Amino acid sequence: MKLCRFHHNRVGIVDGDDVADITPLFDDVARPSWPYPAYDWLVYHFPEVRPRIPSFLDSARRFPIGDIRIDAPVANPGKIIGAPINYRDHINEANADRGINHGKTFTTLDQLGLFLKASTALLPSGGRVLIPFANRRTDHEVELVAVIGKGGRRISQEAALDHVLAYCIGLDMTVRGPEFAGFRKSADTFAVVGPWLTTADEVGDPNSLDLELQVNGERRQSSNTRYLIFNIQRLIAYASAMYTLCPGDLIFTGTPAGVGPVQPGDRISASIQRLGELRVEVDSL
Ligand code: MN
Repeated sequence: MKLCRFHHNRVGIVDGDDVADITPLFDDVARPSWPYPAYDWLVYHFPEVRPRIPSFLDSARRFPIGDIRIDAPVANPGKIIGAPINYRDHINEANADRGINHGKTFTTLDQLGLFLKASTALLPSGGRVLIPFANRRTDHEVELVAVIGKGGRRISQEAALDHVLAYCIGLDMTVRGPEFAGFRKSADTFAVVGPWLTTADEVGDPNSLDLELQVNGERRQSSNTRYLIFNIQRLIAYASAMYTLCPGDLIFTGTPAGVGPVQPGDRISASIQRLGELRVEVDSL
């Protein structure tokens, strides 16, 4: 099932070339009140609504997918977690290029740990990535994103995939430089996710998906998630040893080799097998 958000507050199922509006199925689901929970309301309640979706689709209002304005598929992720180095070929390119690593030698995720991106950095497919510092190198990083469905802490690798609701495409936009990752990767528009959530049952093995990124039609990154050093299960176990994971949390799983700078006017397209294609334009602030 492909779940999307559109027109700000509508919930849709992508069905062929249409989006079927299933917002009415959430009409009788209680809305949270202040203080708001640390999880995403839609993701948290999706399992209870899901059994009613197939029979609702026939009567749902439909929109051609080209006519809608798509939103980030998770409105309120409590956390956006990132893996800084998780493909061997990207570690090698980072260690070979002082422009990327500013003199630091990258080793493994075990030593570097994870980082957090601000939720204000979210940007949907179709949006504009804004470069915050005109004179600084800003890079694209295509990544598989796992969306937590069932929360938990100290999740075992064996149980990890039971905690994933869905997957989507992510762009972990990054200013290169010496500052902490949480600063360089958290600018507004730097957490691109979309175009929609593809539920885990439809994805199958998340550790064998082709991923690709093009800038202005030229291929820059091309790999497969089988080359992840920490696979999805291990990342979830690692992250949940530190953070309680909540429904709607996003885990950016790391980028393969081929990262490179983008400039205002560039068009970025990223695709992952079975998850669709995401497009953004790059602009200055
Ligand atoms: Mn990254």
